[in-house]
Amino acid sequence: MIDDLPKMPSFRLDGKRALVAGASSGIGVGAAVALAGAGAEVVLAARSMERLDPVVHALRAAGHATKALSLDVADAAATEAAVTAAGPFDVLVNSAGIARHGPALETTEPDFDSVLATNVRGAYFLTRSVAKGLIAADRGGSLINISSQMAHVGGPDRAVYSATKHAVEGFTKSMAIEWGSSGIRVNTICPTFIRTPLTDQTFANPDRARWVLEKIKLGRLGTVEDIMGAVVFLASDASALVTGTALMVDGGWTAG
Ligand code: NAP
Repeated sequence: MIDDLPKMPSFRLDGKRALVAGASSGIGVGAAVALAGAGAEVVLAARSMERLDPVVHALRAAGHATKALSLDVADAAATEAAVTAAGPFDVLVNSAGIARHGPALETTEPDFDSVLATNVRGAYFLTRSVAKGLIAADRGGSLINISSQMAHVGGPDRAVYSATKHAVEGFTKSMAIEWGSSGIRVNTICPTFIRTPLTDQTFANPDRARWVLEKIKLGRLGTVEDIMGAVVFLASDASALVTGTALMVDGGWTAG
């Protein structure tokens, strides 16, 4: 008999403070529920308080300690001020993101700029703001960007969107390298297609809907619930040696 069996790392987040950006809809709601369920105190952020409030109230009604924060990640200075005032946060899940899908030949500069402003610039400076707070407090943490399978492959009508998600993978790796010695882990979660308001446009087009189902090897669309376990894994000590990488939750899309 051996008396030093390995100890199972904890998936719990008791005593941790988490910030979820994009928490009023879709994957962000799932992330907030998952983190709260694992014991974290969660601050939910988005631009529209009107859309955020019902989510915050539902979490409170379920017995979770939560707060709402009005945040536009495309405004880097305001984001940093808000994160500094409300932080530090041990965990960040950045699920704030937008899409303006269309053929690359028809991309307009305003659409290009607005998708980059939220998905790349916003994600970059939000991640950095949370890291600054952790470094000032001399604490480690886990920073998670909701990227996409489109960070690893391309797709029709998605040149701008997939460019932004490829960029997120790039800065995630570099930040993980820079902040590893501070105990700050930086990773992405890469979902396949999940039914949320963001994908309504895609599923309104029968050709695109068929394309999606043909590509997902497990033969079904993703759900918000499919992302929740990945969030808790990456946020918790269960993933203590995981940094600078992407966790694919794509039903096998990118396998071939
Ligand atoms: P969603 O249902 O449209 O929710 C997007 C959330 O982001 C909302 O809470 C929205 O609230 C917030 N948001 C948008 N712009 C923001 C800004 N500038 N500042 C702060 N918050 C902002 O989208 P989703 O499907 O959950 O997608 C969430 C993330 O997952 C996105 O990054 C998306 O690219 C990624 N993703 C989604 C899928 C999918 O199939 N659904 C697949 C792969 C990756 P406000 O509008 O009130 O700000």
